Amino acid sequence: MENCKCNCGKPVNGNDFLPGHDQRLRVQLENEVGGLLALRDIVHAAKKYSGGEMGAEQFENLVRRIFSIVIGHPEGKKIPGGLDPSIELRLSKDNIRGKYLTIPRKYLNLFPPKTPSKKHEPKLFIIDSDGKSYKTHIEGGNRMPRIVEFFDKNKQLKEGDKVYIDIIAPMERYRLRTK
Ligand SMILES: [Zn+2]
Repeated sequence: MENCKCNCGKPVNGNDFLPGHDQRLRVQLENEVGGLLALRDIVHAAKKYSGGEMGAEQFENLVRRIFSIVIGHPEGKKIPGGLDPSIELRLSKDNIRGKYLTIPRKYLNLFPPKTPSKKHEPKLFIIDSDGKSYKTHIEGGNRMPRIVEFFDKNKQLKEGDKVYIDIIAPMERYRLRTK
């Protein structure tokens, strides 16, 4: 006899699920991917990829990004919107002194590839803050440079303070804020 497909281990009689246990599987899948909206995004992307409307690289980036968010936040299911999460960064002494941000490795795939590299042309993106747009990139040491003015405008920032990056348009546009 087969077992219920929700992994509860109970036998079923010719059905996929015990009554109501299809909902258990649904919740499990949502939690694995970080919520219903993330699940929706993955399904839509898979459909587009399958239909040739989305390239392999774009699809891969999206899948990795969604799962990196779940991994980065054990409570990923609480992230609203699925596709427009925020990244929290803690400033180091070097960040303050050098006026750049350091992107933790686990978040790197949320940004265009580091530059320069042999494989990629410089991949610039925009980050907005307080009405100003900065054109920047990720470089060696996982640094995000070219945001000197952000630090000049926020002189209160000190080591250990947090700043936040919102993803407005993946790989293209982000927002930087202090709260
Ligand atoms: Zn079950």
